[in-house]
Amino acid sequence: MTPDALNRLVAQFARLPGIGEKTAQRLAFHVLRAPPEQARALAAALTEVVEKVRLCQRCFSLHDGDAETLCGFCSDARRDDRLVCVVEGIADELALERTREFRGRYHVLHGALSPLEGVGPEQLRIRELLLRLKDAPVEEVIVATNPDVEGEATALYLTRLLKPIGLRVTRLAMGLPMGGDLEFADQATLARAMAGRRDL
Ligand SMILES: [Zn+2]
Repeated sequence: MTPDALNRLVAQFARLPGIGEKTAQRLAFHVLRAPPEQARALAAALTEVVEKVRLCQRCFSLHDGDAETLCGFCSDARRDDRLVCVVEGIADELALERTREFRGRYHVLHGALSPLEGVGPEQLRIRELLLRLKDAPVEEVIVATNPDVEGEATALYLTRLLKPIGLRVTRLAMGLPMGGDLEFADQATLARAMAGRRDL
């Protein structure tokens, strides 16, 4: 017989990725035992992230500016407009950024093609990519999707779309473990993969 409020909290924690029922319970008890300010700060951070963080309307990275303004990557005048690096997710973008090897722009697809899971081109930000490439001075698109089946399928699909427009399409060099995740590659490997990218 646990209080309903506690059950609701446990249920919410259990919905988070990688959190099972037991861990959810442990987290909920932790919240109860911790000073109330700590729980209020957690609640406030959750509300704030939902209300303030949005997707950039050009590259679909995260930012906390107005809906009309662009993110830091898009608005930074020192970055190279001729290069656009296409990634599956925000975590990949941040991993590449940490290497300091890339000073162009980004485009976040928010996923990869996966017919089995019902993810087609229309579920990704591919139409938006084509639109933004239309009147931008882009010369090269670096496809930095993950080196797994979905990532390779996405790279192939993008190549078929982009090459006919006359764009140079490149892929990160090997050295990244097949089936691996960009997000978890170490910085040196990622930097080498970016420097040694090959044409598709
Ligand atoms: Zn942006």
